[in-house]
Amino acid sequence: MNENLAIFDVNAKQSPAVQADWPRTKLLLAAADVVDELFAQQKSEGFYPRDLSREDFESRIRANPADRSALESPYTVIRREHNRLIPVPYHVAFRDLLQKLSGLMLQAAEVEPQPQLREFLTQRAKDLLTDDYYASETLWVKLDHLSLDVVLGPYEVYQDELLGLKASYEAVLFEPDREATDRFQQTQHQLVSLCRDVERELGRAINIQDSRVKLTIADLVYGGGEARSEVPAIAFSLPNDERVIEEVGSRQVILKNIIEAKFNLVAHKLANELLAEPVDYDVSFRNFFEHTVFHEISHSLGPQRIMVNGEPSTVNRSLKQLHSVLEEAKADALGACLALSAVPDLDERLFLNNFVGNFVRSIRFGLDQAHGGANAIQFNYLLRERAFRVDDNTGRLWINEARTREAVFKLTAAILGIQERGDFAGASAFMKQFCRTTPELARLLKRVEAFPIDIRLRFLNWND
Ligand SMILES: [Zn+2]
Repeated sequence: MNENLAIFDVNAKQSPAVQADWPRTKLLLAAADVVDELFAQQKSEGFYPRDLSREDFESRIRANPADRSALESPYTVIRREHNRLIPVPYHVAFRDLLQKLSGLMLQAAEVEPQPQLREFLTQRAKDLLTDDYYASETLWVKLDHLSLDVVLGPYEVYQDELLGLKASYEAVLFEPDREATDRFQQTQHQLVSLCRDVERELGRAINIQDSRVKLTIADLVYGGGEARSEVPAIAFSLPNDERVIEEVGSRQVILKNIIEAKFNLVAHKLANELLAEPVDYDVSFRNFFEHTVFHEISHSLGPQRIMVNGEPSTVNRSLKQLHSVLEEAKADALGACLALSAVPDLDERLFLNNFVGNFVRSIRFGLDQAHGGANAIQFNYLLRERAFRVDDNTGRLWINEARTREAVFKLTAAILGIQERGDFAGASAFMKQFCRTTPELARLLKRVEAFPIDIRLRFLNWND
């Protein structure tokens, strides 16, 4: 990926929730720094012996099936001793740092004013020393309406490039926005009737997969570990433990200040450069934010479990490597349909201008990346529908709002259809037609070549 990233400074001390309760927060900030040390140790030591291949690992499991769960556990590192592969639990491999971390969390729990968070921190401090996270994950899903909230532990497996099994340590402190959270939780409660409205214009049904995803809108306050090392995600859904999700549901946290930083430092600048119409900052940010939230909500809508040739399957299994790009395109397009139907005082013209103006931003991540490919599909599909054109003289985008609206609904229906049929051949043809760099797209990409691709976070020191 292009390294042209705009820096966004995150200053924990500016957060009102942090200022309101410094003694407790200081301990959580220190805990996040220990998580950063843990992550650094994981990076330097590796999840597996350096020379281990995927085939070695799999043949070892075939020879000793009883070791499978320990070897494949997200919470073990694999070491080799006398030519044998030994799974070492995280709480053994990282004992010193975990004891330090657990101690800080217990101290924070002692001075924590919010009972729900106190209970979570106490349990989490224990679970980190056993690698059995069931109890604390269950408590975490139930956290609601806190002034300061936290995730802390081994979560995502993206850093495991060999097998995608091992979890990386990560800490995120975030400050929920009560007003925005209430507003979108309200929208979630009305999702059934909202979907009925969209279905009428779509001309087909949308199914709701899981209504127990609890939404929190928040500002990122501080991060450690994996959360500090990567280009920041605007949202995360946890836990990953299927058993906890089945029993108590899950939470999705959407980070408003990160969305605003991406808008301010990248998206707004691009839109101004690409759109023929001038864009108002405040209205455009609001549109960008609403669309982002509806994008996330849309991931829980549409087909999931399907029948293909009389056999039960899932969309993911049927569409294989094409699934993630189509799923992102669906979330974008359906998210726009929902926003157009749900937001009462939406300026439709500006919304659609921003929607189109924003395709190029994500296409710059690369067409082989899910979001990049998804935006190329939308751009080229809408171009074919003559929803917009690139002006020959100015090289800017002229948008026909009525056609754009119609085309977005049509595209949504097309993708939902492919997903519902589990139609791999159809998906391939669709990708071939739309997921590519057309001359119009190439021209716009050239125009914004020098602009930053995305943002990088810089966490300011809280300790001085
Ligand atoms: Zn998405």
